[in-house]
Amino acid sequence: MSSDLVLGIDVGGTAIKAAAVTRTGTMREKRVVPTPGGGPKAIAACVAGIARDIQAKAGRAFAVGVGWPTPVDPQRGVVLFDNKLGSAGVNVAALIRRATGLPACIENDANAAALAEYLYGAGRGAGSLVLLTLGTGVGGGIVLGGEVWHGRDGAAGEIGHIKVRPGGQRCLFCRRRGCLEAYAGAQAILRRYRAAGRKAEGMKDIVSAARRKERPAVRVVSEMAEMLGMAVADLANILNPEIVVIGGGVARAGNILFRPIRAAMAREALPNVSKGLRVVPAKLGNDAGLLGAAGCAWKRFGTSASSPTSTTGNRRLRTASSN
Ligand SMILES: [Zn+2]
Repeated sequence: MSSDLVLGIDVGGTAIKAAAVTRTGTMREKRVVPTPGGGPKAIAACVAGIARDIQAKAGRAFAVGVGWPTPVDPQRGVVLFDNKLGSAGVNVAALIRRATGLPACIENDANAAALAEYLYGAGRGAGSLVLLTLGTGVGGGIVLGGEVWHGRDGAAGEIGHIKVRPGGQRCLFCRRRGCLEAYAGAQAILRRYRAAGRKAEGMKDIVSAARRKERPAVRVVSEMAEMLGMAVADLANILNPEIVVIGGGVARAGNILFRPIRAAMAREALPNVSKGLRVVPAKLGNDAGLLGAAGCAWKRFGTSASSPTSTTGNRRLRTASSN
């Protein structure tokens, strides 16, 4: 293979992040541009322009991986459901392949982030990983034996909707009660914190207030950590993963969050499962989606010698059609 680069493209609702990425996860010529309106065709045209620009400076890439902010079927390259970009039912992998002239694959952005932490970040060297991403809501991804676990319909990894308290707070996304997201998603936490008559612009303010031991802030942060610990215990009992990685801006809060999460996990999970389970902050920050998209392209289109996980049985994926 003459080229040792793929392109990683992270398409979000507001921005597209892109870079050329080496087999070991080093980025070159990173770009961030606003996501164009006009749906998936306009996005594919925009991606083609970025791809040309990056390759002109970093050198030729042999494939492109795209992270997409909706559920997708990565085998067919098709978007399953979309209320953000108007791409439901569209074969985005085919659009990107035609626009860039490169073999293309697509992956859900949260799954891509999980794969990135597994290949290049906090989970490097682990055999299995669960990622929880704390943002407006709670997202996640599961990597088992070197592969993202997609489930039957590509809908696996909806960790935010694990029930942590039957009949509890209403989930702002799915409207059911007692979801993890209702206790650990920023939107829900901010709403309840403000309902206590306090002001906060974002989770940062609440974490700072909790550090100052301000009561309502301590209450919501403790509850968040407790519920996260319970959810991690459930995941640990079911999957027995080697590492649980927690990402998103608030994961940078450090021990004020991680100590009680680990304590709740250790209390609630079976002893043989919790023993030695690492619960750690994510390492890749905002680049995780881009790097995971690139990782998908490496896994699917790289040669076995160049694939980042050539020893963990990923040949099945590489034989799949790129559409
Ligand atoms: Zn829910």
